[in-house]
This record gives sequence, structure tokens and C-alpha cells, in this order.
Amino acid sequence: MVTAISGPRVLLKQLRETMAEPLASQARLDKIVGLIADNMHADVCSFYVLRDDGALELFATRGLAATAVHMTTLRLGEGLVGLIAAQAEPLSLENAPSHPAFAYRPETGEDPFLAFLGVPVLRAGQTLGVLVVQNRDSHAYGEDEIEAMLTTATLLAEMMSTSDFDALIKPGQDIDLRRPRSFNGTGFSDGVALGQVVLHDPRVVVTNFVAEDTDVELKRLSHALDQMRLSIDQMLSHGDMQSFSDHREILESYRMFANDRGWVDRLTEAINNGLTAEAAVERVQNDTRARMMRSTDPYIKDRLHDLDDLANRLLRVLTGDGGTLGRKELPDNAILVARNMGPADLLEYDRTKVRAVVLEEGAAISHVAIVAKSLGLVAVGQAENVVAMSESGDDIIVDGQQGTVYLRPTPDMIQVYVDKVRLGAKRRAHYLELKDKPAITRDGVEVTLLHNSGIVADLPMLQDTGASGVGLFRTELQFMIASRLPRLKEQVELYSEAIRLVEGKPIVFRLLDIGGDKVIPYLRYEAEENPAMGFRSLRLALDRQGLLRIQIRALLQAANGGPMKILVPMVTDAWEFRQTRLVVNKEVERMRNAGHTVPSKLELGAMIEVPSLLWELDHVLPEADFVSIGSNDLVMFLTAADRGNPRVAKAYDPIALPRLRALKHIVDMARRYNVPLTMCGELAGRTIEALALLAIGMTRLSMSPPSIGPIKEMILGLELAPIRNSISAALLEGANGPQIRDLLLDWAGRQGLVI
Ligand code: PEP
Ligand code: MG
Repeated sequence: MVTAISGPRVLLKQLRETMAEPLASQARLDKIVGLIADNMHADVCSFYVLRDDGALELFATRGLAATAVHMTTLRLGEGLVGLIAAQAEPLSLENAPSHPAFAYRPETGEDPFLAFLGVPVLRAGQTLGVLVVQNRDSHAYGEDEIEAMLTTATLLAEMMSTSDFDALIKPGQDIDLRRPRSFNGTGFSDGVALGQVVLHDPRVVVTNFVAEDTDVELKRLSHALDQMRLSIDQMLSHGDMQSFSDHREILESYRMFANDRGWVDRLTEAINNGLTAEAAVERVQNDTRARMMRSTDPYIKDRLHDLDDLANRLLRVLTGDGGTLGRKELPDNAILVARNMGPADLLEYDRTKVRAVVLEEGAAISHVAIVAKSLGLVAVGQAENVVAMSESGDDIIVDGQQGTVYLRPTPDMIQVYVDKVRLGAKRRAHYLELKDKPAITRDGVEVTLLHNSGIVADLPMLQDTGASGVGLFRTELQFMIASRLPRLKEQVELYSEAIRLVEGKPIVFRLLDIGGDKVIPYLRYEAEENPAMGFRSLRLALDRQGLLRIQIRALLQAANGGPMKILVPMVTDAWEFRQTRLVVNKEVERMRNAGHTVPSKLELGAMIEVPSLLWELDHVLPEADFVSIGSNDLVMFLTAADRGNPRVAKAYDPIALPRLRALKHIVDMARRYNVPLTMCGELAGRTIEALALLAIGMTRLSMSPPSIGPIKEMILGLELAPIRNSISAALLEGANGPQIRDLLLDWAGRQGLVI
């Protein structure tokens, strides 16, 4: 007959002492299962570890045949142990052999045991192993015992990541925890990078698992919870969304979790079982994660992220870990791994050390992807679960072309990619050779290739690409990395530096385009339901003209008597453009009156990225010195599909008939009014899309610097006239005609273009 357990708290203390004892690794593990068996009054305690080949190997036992240790294995899903590992859930049985999944292993001598309790050993919701106790007599293990086993399993999971544990692994094998993993995401920025994981939001490392004093731990938890609830409430009531890059809904769900009795009760119970407050948070989060990860409901999956964030916040409060360590000490080949990050977060890193960015979320034309691209970083997004699987310092390979990520790659895989990197270097060398060649098609159409840029540091790349200038300088990026509003003088310095670096080539400065996902931390905004369509960009600038005037003043001064091109973002109607022109004119007047030299030639351009403007081009074009299409926003608004939301961002082909017709309309109108037109959305930098643009008559393309080489190569091999004719016909033919993309791919194949 089984008597009550002597308490998990006593057990945890004993286990902690055992961990510190100078024992050989196997002896330590044997002692640990012995202590668990004694404490639980069990006849058997066994510990199985999930290996990288998917087998669960018996690593230690008290009660089963000692000769079975490191010999007995079960496959994932096989037997009761395999079932627990696969489902990541505890299993308690009064009569184990009668369970349909029971698998008999004669070498273990386990037949006489009826009562069975097994729990998964978890880390970040992933199964690392299984801990089992058994008794000869039929007996129902109670909730307390299950809880005690789960608590003990938390400690074992921790032990498995220590180097001491390595001695237990057979040569040539590894445990699943360190298994190489691959993730299929979406390539955001081309190229290949090998390096080491740097977690953008490093997991808080819990080092102290066993409580000295349970009451103290309960108080710590209660205090930390209060503090966290308070800060969530404050954020909600202030509408201060900046410190959180996401929106209100997330905060609301944080609040819901933080006040959830079930969650708090589970934390309290884990502490009562002997864990410290931080270990309790980790333990409960592990279980919750394991359950939610197996859900296929996208709503539950989203909530999982929220809960992860919340647990991490709570851990930070409890451990006093600010979470900035990873950012300070970057390895030379850092690969940033994050659930998501804003463009400003990325810009904060030392770009000489960062090679790539891997995100669980994001979309190819979200601003963080654009910034990654403009910095020449490889980037992959939508790599599900990559954060939980990664450890800072892990080896990692990122393939931006395939959209794949290899975590802890095998030596073979590393070799494949070392070769690829070499090939990439060769290709870059080839593009470098093309830099002085003008981009002219085989049938003589000259195309102007320009850079999209946003930070001064990437301007010298103009020398490597040979581009004709900068078609879009996104001024807001500098504002996003500053800790306060840059003053007039600082802005003048920045724009002057940009002008100096382009060495006489033209550069188009776009006025501040803030809002949507471009958040400026020190500017307060009201929380909005729909920030992309909210009080942003030009709307904000015209409403609060102080900021706009200072920026225009700074640009005019930076011209230093030379030419200046200013681009106005998010123009929704001609009136707004006219208003901006008035502000510019006033500033020019002011300058002249003060006796300063005004720019030799001042051009003001409008961005065409809000669909409404398409039907007012005959008002805007006569007033604009140049125009530029922002296809990222234009396509988003035309298709009502958020550019930053991966679920919908790729759903509508931007060069399918309706979108291409809209673009063609702009091209025709710009030609009618003889206004220079540039494409500066991401479309311009993708070969097949760029081909579509050339086919509808565009000849000025502005793109991220790494795209210049491939686009130029495509242009050099191109005979444009027949493609123009074919696409014009397809646009007239309408919906019954062939798909534009297929048509272009067919042409590219026929002309042997490198796509
Ligand atoms: C665009 O919208 O296409 C564009 C070029 O501007 P941004 O990506 O900065 O919004
Ligand atoms: Mg835009």
C-alpha cells in the first residue's frame, strides 16, 4: 500500500544537494531517480531521454533491471512512455498493462507493476524526456503526486542542458534538445548567412529552482504580479503603445491572463511544491505552452505568444533581468532571432556584426524586412517556433532565397552553405563588374536604377552598385533610431552628410512618413484601431506643421545652394499636395528674406500610394515636379490586404491584371503630363515584377541596393519590345487572358533571362 508522499519540497531540496555533490554523471542520475522513488514511495522510478533520432532511451532507473539502462528504447508514440512524450501530457493509470498502448519490454523486468504515473520533461513546451514512477499494487496517483512529478521534471529539464549531462550521451548520438532543426519560412531578403543565434528578446535564464522559504517565494510572486498588472493597466490607460510595439488588443489579453485565477493558482501551487517563484513561472509556462502548441486554432496560437510575453515579463520582474545582455555583447556573426521586431529595434544593433534576421512573424514588405534588406542583411520571416527552439550562441544558417533556417546544422549542411556563400561572393563580384555598364536593354531602352535608402551609412554602397542616385531616402528611419526629436541643426547635418555621400548624384528626400508600423518612440499618439489608415504621415505633418516646417527648413539649408528634391508621402488628394507646396514656398521665402542662399533648383514630388489619387492625377501631375509610386502601400490599399500581415500580404499578386492596370494608368498619365515617374516600392527590386514594370513603360526603378545587380543583369539580357506588346495586349484582353505573371515567366524563359 502506498502512503502519502513526504512532500516535493523535501525532494527538491535533496535533488538540489545531489546536483551539487561531486558525483560521476551516471551516479548522480541514479541517485536522483532513487530519491524520487523514495520520496514518492514508488517501487520504480525511471527517466527516459528523447534522443535526436526520435528514440526514448532509458537513462536511469530504480526498480527496473539496471542492465536495461541505455539499452531499452521506445519510439515516440510507442508504449506508455512514447505516448506521454508524443502528447506532452501526464498519464496516470491504475492498471498500466491493460492500457492499449502498453508495450512490454522483457529486459526491464517490468511486468509486475500495475500503478503507473508518467510526466513529460519539457522545455519551452517541447518534450525532452519522460519521468515515470510505478508501483506493484494498483493505485490511483493523486493530483498532488502528478504535480510533484511535474515540478521534479522541471528540475530534470534544467539538468539536461548542463555540460554534466553530456557525459551520459553515447558517442555519435545526441539528445533531442540539441537536435539540428530546420524551419521553412519566407525569404524576406536574399542571401545566405552562417552565424550564431542572438535572441532579440533573450529568454530569462532561471538559475535558482529550489525555494529556501516558500512564504518568501509566494510574496515575491504576489509582488511581481501586482507590479506587472499595474504596468499593464498604466500602459492601457495612457494609450502609450510605443513601449509595446503591438496594439491594444495584446495588452488587453495580457491583462486577461495576468488576472486569470487559474494561471495564478497554478503558479502558487508550483511554489507550494518547493519551486522558487521564477521556476514556478517557467514550469507553468512549459505546461501551458505544450498544450497550446498542439492546438491548430490560430487564435490559440496567437494567445500563446501573448502568454509567452507575459511569462517573460514576469520572469524579468522576478529576476531583475533587463533582457539587454544579448544586445550588448554581439558575436561577430550575429544572427538575430525574434518573434517580431520593429525597424527601429533592428537599427539599434551594431550593423557591422549582424549578418541576418530570423523572425517568427513579419511580412516581406513590412518595414523591418525593408530595413533588413537595405542594410544588406539576409532575412527570413514566418519561421514558426524558431524562438523557443533557439538558444543564444547556437549555430544557425539562414537562407534568404529559400526562406529556410537551419538551427544547429550538421557539418554536411554547414559545408553546403559554406560553398553557397562562396558562390554568392562570386555572384557579387560579377555584379560589381557590371556596375559601370549602363542598364540598357538589348533593344536599346535605357533604364535608370536608383537606391532606396534610409540611413546615411548605406549610401556609400552607391559606389559598388553604380546606381544613378537615390530614388527614395526614407528620412523617418533616422527619427526612429534617435532617442528624442532631432533638432534643426542635427537634421541639417544629417541631410548634408547624405548629400555629401552621394557625390553629386541625385537624392530624393522623402518627408517624414511616420505611423503604421513606423513608430517614433518619443512622439505620443493616440492609440488607433487602424494605424495604417490613421492619423499618420502627411496627415500628421499638415496638422502639426511645426515638425514639417523644421524638416523642410533643414532640407533647404542642407542643399547649401545646390539642387534639392523633396518627396511628399501618402498624398491622398491634390489639396494636401498643394498645402505642402505652400509650406515649402513659405520656408523658401523665409530663407531668402534672411539673406541665405536658396536651393538652385527645388523640386517637389508626390508619392502615389493612396488609391484615391489615381483618379485625381490630372490635378496632381500638373503641380508635381516628379512623382513616385509607393507600390507597397498602393497595393495594400488597393487589395485591402495589410502589407505587414503574412496571412494576407501574399494573397494577391501585385502584378496581376487589376494592379497592373492601375500602375499602367499612372504611367500613361505621367507621360501625358510629361512628369518623371519612378517606382520606389519593393516591386522594383524583384526581377519578374521589375520586368512587368518595364513592360508597362516604366523606366525609373528605385530599390534596395542588393537588388541593383540582379535587376541590371536581367535588363542587359532583355529584348523589351515583344514583351511590351504582349503585356499591352493582355491588359486589354481582360480577365479571360493569361495570367500576367505566367506570361512574363514564359517570356523570361524564352529570352534566357536570369530571374
Ligand atoms: C511604399 O509604400 O511603397 C514605399 C516606398 O514607402 P514605404 O515602404 O516606406 O511605406
Ligand atoms: Mg509607403
